[in-house]
Amino acid sequence: MAEENPDIYERLDVPKVVNAAGTKTRIGGSLIREEAVEAMVEAAGSFVRLSDLQARAGELISDVTGAEAGYVTPGASAGLMLGTAACIAGDDVEVMSRLPDTEGVPDEVVMPRTHRTGYDHAIRGAGAEIVDVGTNDYHLGTGAENVEPWEIERAISEDTAAVGYVQKPYTSPPLDRVVEISHAHDVPVIVDAAAELPPTENLSRFVEMGVDLIVFSGGKAVRGPQTTGVLAGRQDLIQSAAIQHLDMHAAGPAWSPPAELVDTDRFDGVPRQGIGRPMKVGKEELAGLIRALECFCEEDEEALCREWRARAEQMADGLAGSDVLETSISGGDKTAVAPEVVVTVDEERASTTTAGLVDDLRQENPRVFVGADGLHECKFTLNPMCLTDDEANYVVDRILASVNA
Ligand SMILES: *Cc1c(COP(=O)(O)O)cnc(C)c1O
Repeated sequence: MAEENPDIYERLDVPKVVNAAGTKTRIGGSLIREEAVEAMVEAAGSFVRLSDLQARAGELISDVTGAEAGYVTPGASAGLMLGTAACIAGDDVEVMSRLPDTEGVPDEVVMPRTHRTGYDHAIRGAGAEIVDVGTNDYHLGTGAENVEPWEIERAISEDTAAVGYVQKPYTSPPLDRVVEISHAHDVPVIVDAAAELPPTENLSRFVEMGVDLIVFSGGKAVRGPQTTGVLAGRQDLIQSAAIQHLDMHAAGPAWSPPAELVDTDRFDGVPRQGIGRPMKVGKEELAGLIRALECFCEEDEEALCREWRARAEQMADGLAGSDVLETSISGGDKTAVAPEVVVTVDEERASTTTAGLVDDLRQENPRVFVGADGLHECKFTLNPMCLTDDEANYVVDRILASVNA
């Protein structure tokens, strides 16, 4: 059957993935919504001025987040970089044109040390220097907090361009406290909330706390094009991000970006190509993200959560017959995304180690990806978000075949 009517991946001879790991970028993020694909195909049929389309996207983002303004970036990471560039350069066209060179302007981003991730490369890439505060004593079991609010406060100086914060259900100190401290010193707060949707209410939750810029991934649960992200926040910062991102080969008299997006009076002249130019977003991605975000906001979230929970339970039940696996269902509370099946492998009795099992599954065709964050505790996870019911059964079968081999 497959040979008679091969799909794109079969024609390319590239193995497909059955995704029980959730919305992971390296295996394709999420499956883009049909409506968004249709929008992309339609958008591909005409030319359009990208700044006009960005302005339209910005209106929608502003609507759904409650932020003053919004912008589409090629992913949440790119949003962090553009957002940082905006915090450093502000309206200064001269600084924009030389980033990541930040000589003579405030360029420090203060962050709790425990919020540092590989994604902060994007912040540093804009020219910022990260000043991290806090300790790792928490892991010693001393009862110490990762970071105290006063540590953030004391790290803010005249060299500070922004405070950086990664939003997760477990991150501390509380975001509203960090906003309060930063604003007392007139410093903007940039929040990475890339994967914190759903719940849909998170679109506006952090904006309501007063954050100055926030990023969400468009390629995770929003199910837009994989290479999109949402940047939302203060109008002046979004304008700065926009003109550091848009294609800027324009003669002064011919520079007339949409007024909703760029107030040209704020700037000394036409900026040169900014630091964002290598991170372009095409008309197809813009149209796809707009449609996906509309659909995401209309989605019946409770029905979706019920579906995820049922699928997680289905997988847990399927594995219950194994005497070398133990399962429980975690997460899925108000601030986290989907419930996951946490599977513990009895390595003494299974025919493989947990890491061996996870790796074996990835070598199959199709590749089976499960969540691998808990290998050191002999655990792996099954995330229901990116599976059909049939695929969920398939994953269970492959796991059972592997541990009983
Ligand atoms: C996924 C993720 C990112 C990157 O998002 P992209 O849209 O893939 O660029 C950044 N930060 C966190 C915390 C993430 O989970």
